[in-house]
Amino acid sequence: MATRRLDRKAYSAIRTMVLSGELGAGQSVAERKLAQKLGMSRTPVRAAIAELEREGLIRNVSPRSRAVSEISLQDVVEIYDLREMLHGMAARLLARRVTESQIKELMKLAEKVDVLISFGPDESEFHRYITSKCGNARLAQFAASVEVQLSRLRFHEMQARKTMSMDNPKFHEPTHKEIVEAIANGDSDRAEELARAHTREAKDSLLRYILGG
Ligand SMILES: [Zn+2]
Repeated sequence: MATRRLDRKAYSAIRTMVLSGELGAGQSVAERKLAQKLGMSRTPVRAAIAELEREGLIRNVSPRSRAVSEISLQDVVEIYDLREMLHGMAARLLARRVTESQIKELMKLAEKVDVLISFGPDESEFHRYITSKCGNARLAQFAASVEVQLSRLRFHEMQARKTMSMDNPKFHEPTHKEIVEAIANGDSDRAEELARAHTREAKDSLLRYILGG
């Protein structure tokens, strides 16, 4: 197997362990143990750890040891606040320039997400579509980098949403379809507000979940 492919394989295996909590926050990340577990040599494992360190999922404890990063409340607040601002702005910009075919595409994505109430890849695809078509390439780049930092929280967010919607049948956040409707109507104020409220709900339920409230 080519080096690059082995690197990717090691990267995605270790990343999954971190995201699923198999490697918990604060737990040490030992190159040798991981290599053994994955049946690989240490080289791809080392490259994967370095990449995950750049993404912030793993941190440097001392020059020779690494651990899975802890998630702090501060992280949640900072990441979601930034996300709220970027997604709100993207929805506002897109409302001014959206085309018929983009509306169709967005509606298709929205229906898929809203019906399945799945907050996995489809949900990310929906939001990525808005940021990538809003006409500001830098905004799209920033949003993508925020998503990488958010990926670690996703697992917890899904748990939080499940818990919240089970505990509270009235739990409602602006649906994806409502956001598309505002964009399609060219109503930039409403599009921005709905997109912001949508992210804010996700943040609030995650905070309540983390704080156990
Ligand atoms: Zn969403």
